[in-house]
Amino acid sequence: MPTEFETYSAELAIIRRDRRRSFLLLFVTPLAAFLTEIASGLSRTNLQWVMAVLLLAGFGGAFAYGVKFSWSRCPRCRNQFFMKGILRSNGFARKCVHCGLPLS
Ligand SMILES: [Zn+2]
Repeated sequence: MPTEFETYSAELAIIRRDRRRSFLLLFVTPLAAFLTEIASGLSRTNLQWVMAVLLLAGFGGAFAYGVKFSWSRCPRCRNQFFMKGILRSNGFARKCVHCGLPLS
């Protein structure tokens, strides 16, 4: 008989993946923009359009994954995993804020 975590592991893996991608894009995008700025300074070329595309894609992706993971539903209780109501949310929570199902 599978344990409770094994029963919901596929859906929990999707939530973990989206959260990891959102945080990764959030922290890597400024670093990539900074490196682009350094590269444009060294080669004396205008790379503003590259940086604009980089920032829009990076922060846009972080926002999209952030909305997706923060609005995701708990596989056990079907409430929102990280949110209680509209104003009370915790994106760093390691378990469901409603039923306590651990994320990993
Ligand atoms: Zn739950």
